[in-house]
Amino acid sequence: MKLRFWGVRGSIPTPSEETVRFGGNTSCLSADLGGNIVIFDAGTGIRNLGNTILERKDKPKLDMFLSHVHWDHIQGFPFFGPGYRDGYSIDVYGRGKADNTLGEILAGQMEGPNFPVSLHQLGAKFTYSDITPGQSIPIKSPAGETIAKVTCAQGCHPNGVLVYRLDDLRKGTAFVYATDTEHYANRMDLNIGDLAKGADLLIYDGMYTPEEYETKYKGWGHSTWEKGFELAGYAGVKKYIVFHHDPNHNDDFLEGYEAEVKDKCRTLNPKLDVAFAREKMEIAL
Ligand SMILES: [Zn+2]
Ligand SMILES: [Zn+2]
Repeated sequence: MKLRFWGVRGSIPTPSEETVRFGGNTSCLSADLGGNIVIFDAGTGIRNLGNTILERKDKPKLDMFLSHVHWDHIQGFPFFGPGYRDGYSIDVYGRGKADNTLGEILAGQMEGPNFPVSLHQLGAKFTYSDITPGQSIPIKSPAGETIAKVTCAQGCHPNGVLVYRLDDLRKGTAFVYATDTEHYANRMDLNIGDLAKGADLLIYDGMYTPEEYETKYKGWGHSTWEKGFELAGYAGVKKYIVFHHDPNHNDDFLEGYEAEVKDKCRTLNPKLDVAFAREKMEIAL
């Protein structure tokens, strides 16, 4: 499968000449499995993904997994081109609330006066499924064959969050997408550690530097590269990507910080491949 990052920024888009190298769009990642594209989060980056899908000759089956419905993870949803077109089938998964299903929450985002087109006017065939931690969802090819599965677990974030693992059953490869999750003070988050066991890649929320976290951001629902590095070691993944960059961290800062983090990781665990996520970065698994 081929992964591509379409948005790597946390909280709010950051368009600026100071953020062009890492990118300013908010969270969106795609996994291309041929006739299927599995999408993780619908931040502003999903607009460019949608345009790329519309350029394809085929109409891939689309499965969209939302970590949660904080704005930076759904803000691009109303601008996802295939959603407006007949012939696309889009199954959306995530977590609703006690009194609102996921479908109702997404419809609410597009209600007037906030947006001029309502969800039920979209042309694609949508389904919405509320899922719970521990659930596994089969990804079926257009021919009906189960080619992958997505398993979810609970992260730690205000209003709740799901972290996801995608297993490509044909290739035997897997990755974990764990964004908007805060580590615990005295123990490793084994919900994520165990989900990532044996995976090839861990993508993890490293929004804050350890110093920023300790002095300013405890309880805000985000983590640091160090905690993701510990999880990567526990799970035995080959590659670790730091994701959901702070909107106040510009390119110059992130490049220097990434070099420093890579140095530290190389000393501690030379076999682990470490990188910071960048918009349009591609990874073949
Ligand atoms: Zn976020
Ligand atoms: Zn969030």
